[in-house]
Amino acid sequence: MNAVRRSPPPDDSIVEVVPVVRRVVASRVVDPATRDDIVQETLARLMASRSRVEQDTLVPYAIAIARNLIASLAEREQRSRRNAHLLVETDEPEPRPDDEFLRQEDALIVAAAVARLPAPEREILLAHEVDGTDVATLAAGRGSTPGAIAAQLNRTRSRLRVEYLLVQSATDPPTDRCRPMLMALSLGDRRRQRELDVHGHLLACDFCAVQSSTLVARRSRRTGHEDVRVPVSRDSDVVAARQKGREVAAAAGFEGTELTVIATAISEIARNIVKFAKRGEFTYIVLHTDGRTGLQVVARDSGPGIPDLQRALEDGYSTYRGLGLGLPGARRLMDEFEIVSTVGEGTTVTMTKWRA
Ligand SMILES: [Zn+2]
Repeated sequence: MNAVRRSPPPDDSIVEVVPVVRRVVASRVVDPATRDDIVQETLARLMASRSRVEQDTLVPYAIAIARNLIASLAEREQRSRRNAHLLVETDEPEPRPDDEFLRQEDALIVAAAVARLPAPEREILLAHEVDGTDVATLAAGRGSTPGAIAAQLNRTRSRLRVEYLLVQSATDPPTDRCRPMLMALSLGDRRRQRELDVHGHLLACDFCAVQSSTLVARRSRRTGHEDVRVPVSRDSDVVAARQKGREVAAAAGFEGTELTVIATAISEIARNIVKFAKRGEFTYIVLHTDGRTGLQVVARDSGPGIPDLQRALEDGYSTYRGLGLGLPGARRLMDEFEIVSTVGEGTTVTMTKWRA
């Protein structure tokens, strides 16, 4: 296993360029999300060519990159507008989904999922949800306590969510381990998730990776304070990972340049994952330590691993061809950076930015 733990100073000269780039882009691009994208891409390209640019030409060079990106974006948009008519072949209105049919189908899925519950659990759930029997009455009739019945109902609902997804997907889980994994996710039971190594399983199991995104999304909506996780396996996921990271950082109070820096570092690591590891996952954790607020980004993949970490972190050593700053750039942008890699197993990058 290789591990590198170091906290290099951020590359201030490049970070200082960000406000200028932001102003240039803001004066020409209306959409805020597109603005962020262009500023981040400019920063990435600037860092990739850092060694070839003199200090005093950094700003004009950055502005030139941003303008080029804006120009090519405008061209792309014009082209897609010209081609828009090709996508619409007739004047007929779009077919509308039949709401009644969807409702019926959903009821069938729920019924099938309920039928899969163990009989005693199903009985309690139906007595409570359908007949309206309260928890105290259920407890009294079973020689139990209201607390125990409530906890049981909670577990049963979690199981029902898992079975609902399985019925809906019309596939059996590929391994015996899958159901307990999904159950632990559905319950939001962190300790159980650690015991089972759910994260490790999700990185290796396509089936559970897909199902879990639905389960976790439901939980986050309900509880609101889960760590935020984003699976990454395709180019479009790079954007999703970056946007989610920005969102979490903004909610934690990060602003302006800091947001750009964080999002850029996330982009770089995410691109590496898509390119080399094929599948990984980002977790965003807001830290509150010694009166400081930070965002911790954990990127974990199940890829081939990096044999020579020292070399991979050297400037100018690009882990992939093309634009971007890769690992060394991400390390410079963040306040803390730690990477652990095991050949044949995968790589975990943990990086933290503290609010100024
Ligand atoms: Zn599985």
